[in-house]
Amino acid sequence: MTPSLGFIGLGIMGKPMALNLCNAGHRLFVHARRPPMMITLTEVGATACSSPLEVAKQADIIFTMVSDTADVEQVILGDLGIIHGAGPGKLVIDMSTISATVTRRLATSLGERGIEMLDAPVSGGETGALAGTLSIMVGGKTTQFDRALPFFKSLGQNIVHIGEHGAGQIAKTCNQVLLSQTLTAVGEALILAKAAGVEPANVCKALLGGFASSRILELYGPRMLNHDFKPGFKVKLHHKDLRIAMQIAHELGIALPGTAVVAQYLNALMGMGHGELDNGALVLVQEQLSNVHLTDSVPPSQQREKL
Ligand code: NAP
Repeated sequence: MTPSLGFIGLGIMGKPMALNLCNAGHRLFVHARRPPMMITLTEVGATACSSPLEVAKQADIIFTMVSDTADVEQVILGDLGIIHGAGPGKLVIDMSTISATVTRRLATSLGERGIEMLDAPVSGGETGALAGTLSIMVGGKTTQFDRALPFFKSLGQNIVHIGEHGAGQIAKTCNQVLLSQTLTAVGEALILAKAAGVEPANVCKALLGGFASSRILELYGPRMLNHDFKPGFKVKLHHKDLRIAMQIAHELGIALPGTAVVAQYLNALMGMGHGELDNGALVLVQEQLSNVHLTDSVPPSQQREKL
């Protein structure tokens, strides 16, 4: 019999992912802590549940897509958590981006009750979630990866079994190390152009055809130039991801100096009250550091003469 599925956490990423599973014909039980968030899913046939425990009672395979490490712990181990509703043989697939160390602990706690777990964080953003083209980085047993693969195929295209429990989360941290520094580099390049009195949009256009081109430049260059910071991927989540990266660096005794600088920018952005903006807002800190504003119509050379 086809397994029934559960989905917990219906935010920017979770909702379109759950919709893709529903539209692929799977029987879906959903939970969001704010009930109105479930309406889009119930309208296409999903069943709303009052808690993660209820989802776990109904579904054979339970996906979680919530915010941070403590949230996944609460959804799995809390009073109304998955662990109290699931039995032996069920599979929990956490697709949130969280600590690899805690992921391993959660896999052990679930394993003691015969419940399987995979960590399967994603990259590709809201666009990838909507289109079902996410990159999925999976940690856990091969048997469980094989069991989950048909469902992952409704969510993503590049699906890689990285290794044991926690390995998916480590891969995702590597992704964020690259993403955060590329994002910073895009902001720096645009500010340099603006400060030099050269049209940054033209620079962006030229660079997109050359060796320095990247998906980040393509997506975030125009957004930074227009100060379009509608999320997307929220500053507070990127802040959380670099906290995880810094924690791993600390635990392993390795230096990640480039990532550490971006982590400080994100600390500043949080302090400025911008946690709910898209993470392209990182350029706001860079603008302040150099007193160069990408949306300013006054050429920076004139601004500087007035100083
Ligand atoms: P989001 O829009 O803020 O959604 C998170 C959802 O989780 C919200 O609906 C929230 O409920 C729910 N939630 C949080 N804590 C919960 C708890 N303790 N119990 C029950 N529900 C809880 O965030 P998102 O952008 O979808 O991101 C979700 C995860 O994917 C994060 O780990 C993020 O780092 C990762 N991710 C995001 C992107 C992206 O581009 N957005 C890309 C890759 C990976 P409420 O609505 O009630 O707050």
